[in-house]
Amino acid sequence: MLDLATNVQFVKGIGPKIAQILLEKGISTVEDLLYYLPFRYEDRLNPRGIGELRAGEMASIIAEVRTFGLFRTRRMPIFEMTVGQGRDTLKCMWFNATYLQDKFRAGMLLALYGKVEAGDRGGHRFEIIQPQFEILHDPTATHGNGGGDEPKWQSLEVGRIVPIYETAGNGRLTARWFRRVIHGMLEGLDQDPPDAIPPAVRGRMGLIDRRRAFWQAHWPEVGESLANLQAARTPAHIRLIFEELFFLELGLELKRRKMRSQTGIVFQISDSVRAAVKRILPFHPTAAQKRVLKEIAADMAEPAPMRRLLQGDVGSGKTIVALEAAVIAMENGCQVALMAPTEILATQHYLSARRILEPAGYRIVLLTGSQESGRKKQARHHIAQGSAQLVIGTHALIQETVGFDKLGLVIVDEQHRFGVLQRFRLMKKTNEAEPDVLVMTATPIPRTLALTLYGDLDTSVLDELPPGRTPITTRRIGDERSEEVWEFVRKQVAAGRQAYIVYPVIEEGATPPHRANNGRAGGPGEGELKAAIKMYEQLRKREFASLRVGLLHGRMSAEEKDATMASFQRGEIDVLVSTTVIEVGVDVANANIMVVEHAERFGLAQLHQLRGRIGRGSAKSYCVLMTGGKVSVEAEQRLEAMVRTQNGFEIAELDLQQRGPGEFFGTRQAGMPNFRVANLLRDRELLEAARREARYVLAGPNPDLTKEEIARAVQHLRGHWNRRYGLVEVG
Ligand code: ADP
Ligand code: MG
Repeated sequence: MLDLATNVQFVKGIGPKIAQILLEKGISTVEDLLYYLPFRYEDRLNPRGIGELRAGEMASIIAEVRTFGLFRTRRMPIFEMTVGQGRDTLKCMWFNATYLQDKFRAGMLLALYGKVEAGDRGGHRFEIIQPQFEILHDPTATHGNGGGDEPKWQSLEVGRIVPIYETAGNGRLTARWFRRVIHGMLEGLDQDPPDAIPPAVRGRMGLIDRRRAFWQAHWPEVGESLANLQAARTPAHIRLIFEELFFLELGLELKRRKMRSQTGIVFQISDSVRAAVKRILPFHPTAAQKRVLKEIAADMAEPAPMRRLLQGDVGSGKTIVALEAAVIAMENGCQVALMAPTEILATQHYLSARRILEPAGYRIVLLTGSQESGRKKQARHHIAQGSAQLVIGTHALIQETVGFDKLGLVIVDEQHRFGVLQRFRLMKKTNEAEPDVLVMTATPIPRTLALTLYGDLDTSVLDELPPGRTPITTRRIGDERSEEVWEFVRKQVAAGRQAYIVYPVIEEGATPPHRANNGRAGGPGEGELKAAIKMYEQLRKREFASLRVGLLHGRMSAEEKDATMASFQRGEIDVLVSTTVIEVGVDVANANIMVVEHAERFGLAQLHQLRGRIGRGSAKSYCVLMTGGKVSVEAEQRLEAMVRTQNGFEIAELDLQQRGPGEFFGTRQAGMPNFRVANLLRDRELLEAARREARYVLAGPNPDLTKEEIARAVQHLRGHWNRRYGLVEVG
C-alpha cells in the first residue's frame, strides 16, 4: 500500500527513469503527484457531434481517423487529417508537423480539442487548426493501446469527464500516462491519517474529506459542472485550496505569536514622552497619522516586540510618523536605526530628520557607502558608544557593519526592495531584548499579498492625504505632440515651478531596468527608445535652452546624485531629466510637473511612484504620460488606470492582476510561498476565510475545538511547512 509520503518510484508504472522526470517537475512523493491536478477537463461523456459544432467555440470531439497526409507548401509542411463520425467529417491541420506523419492509422479513435473554425475548402463545414489530440484506441494495434486492458482504457478515456494533464519530460509522460498512473495510485492508497483540519473548521467551511477531494479533483463524478471544474470551484478543489491556504495562514499566525512571545522592550509613554513627541511636529497630523501613531505606540508600550507594517500611499506622510516613533524610543534611552533602500533616500531622510529633530536636541548620524572612511569610522564609534541616537543609512550598511549600544527600534523604509524581515536577526547590538520593528512601504500592497507575504506582521494603513493637496491632473498624449508639452513646461517654469522628465533608459541601446510587460515589449525596439542622456542634451540646447536643466541617473556617483538633488531641492534646477532613480521617496514640494516619456514601457507601480513625486505642494500638479510607438493592450490598461484614478490600492490591484503575484514587486519576492493548488488572484475569498480560521484555531481551546485538535493541526504544519510553502522555519 502507498501512503502520502511514499516515494513515487514505488507507484505502479513508475521506475527510476520516470521518477527522475517527475522530480524535475518537483514531484517526489505520492502526495506531490496527487497535487498534480489536471489543468482542464474534457467532457467525453457528452462529446460534441460534428454536425452540431459552431464556428468560434472551443470543443472536444471524439472521432475516427479517415484520411491524412503531409503537404509541403512553399512556407512550411502542413499535416492535414480528416476525421469523421458517420457521415459528418471535420478537417484538422497542424503546421510544421512532419513529426505527425507516422503517428496515425485510419480507423483510430481520437479525442480532439480546439477552436472550431468555419471550413474554407474541400467540402468541410468546419476545421480545427492545431487541435490538441489523444489517440483513444487503435484497433489495429497488437499491443499497448488496443490490447488486453480494453475495458480500462475505455473507462479512463471516454464516457466521462476526463482530466487533462500537462505532459512532462518533453512529451514522454502524456496526459494519458498521468491518467493511468494517478488512477492506479488513488486505488492503491492507504487509509488517510486523521484530517489535520479541525472538525469545527471543516464544518464551518463545508469541506469534504481529503481523499474524496483528491479522487474527485482527478476523476470528477458524473454530473459535476464542467464550469466549476475549470474554475476550480468544485467541493474537491475548494477542499484542497482551502487546506493549502489554511496551513499557510496557520504558519504565519504561529510565527506572529512566536515573535510576540519574545522579550521586547517596554517603552514608557509618559506625559513627558508625549510632550516630546508633540514638540517636534511641524504641522498638525492628520486623523490617520494620529490613529497610526497610537497603534505604534501601543505596540511599543507592550513587552512583546513590535512587528508592524505601515502602509501608506506616496505622500501620505509616513516620515513624520516614523520620526514620532523614533522620539518615543529615544526618550526611553534607546537608539533607533532608520534604513532606506538608496543613498538618495537615506540622505533625504537624514536631512529631514535633522531639520525636525535636531532643534529638540537629538543626535543623528548618517552612514552611507560613499562617505569617506574616516567619517564612517567616526559614525560607527558614536553608534557603538550610544552617543548617536538615530542612525540613518542604507540597509546593507547598517545591517552588516554597525554595532549598536542599545538598539530599541528599527525602521525600514520601502521594505519590498530588500525582501525578508528575518535579516534583522543579523543586526549587532549589545542589548538582549528584541528591538521593535516598523516596516514602511509606499507601494500599496493588495490585501491578498498582505495576507501572505506580510501575514506575520500587524498592519497600519495611512489612508488619508495631508490637507491642502490638489488632485493631480493626469493626461496621456502621443509623443508627436511633445512640442505642446514642452511649451506647457516652459510656462509653468516661468510661473516659478519645477518639472521632472523621466526616460526609461539612461543611454540608447541600453536595456530598460524594468520591463513593464513581462518581456513582451509594447513599444519600439530598445534601440529606438529615447534615452535620458541624449534627451538631456537635446532639451537643454533646444526646447529648454533658456531654462536650467539637470540630469540624474543611476550611473552617476552618489555625490553627483546628491549634488544634483540638492540643487533641484534649492530651486537651482528648473527641469530635472531623469531615469526612475527618482521613483522612490524624493520630495520636492515645488515640483509640480511629471512628464514620463515612453510611459507604455513602465509598470503601474512605477508610474504611480513617479506620479507620487508631484502634488506635494499647494500648486496644481500635472502628470503627462507620453507614449512613443505601439502600445500593447496591457499598456493601454495601465495608462487608462493612471488617468482614471490616483488610489494606490486600486492601482496595485490592477498591477497584481496584470503581472501576477510573483512579479508584483518587480523582481520575484523572497518569501513568496509556492502554491500547488491555490491561486491568489482567484482564491481571495478562501484566503480570507483561511486567515480567519487559522487565527481562531490558534486562539486556543473552545467548546468546538479541543487541545488535541489544535496540536494535530500544528504538528501537521511543522511536518509540511518547508516543503509545502518553501518558507523558512516556522519556529
Ligand atoms: P510619504 O508617505 O510618501 O513618505 P512624506 O512623509 O514624505 O510622505 O510626506 C509628504 C509630504 O507631506 C511632506 O512634505 C510632509 O512634510 C508633508 N506632510 C506630511 N504630513 C503632513 C500633515 N499632517 N500636514 C501637512 N503636511 C504634511
Ligand atoms: Mg515593545
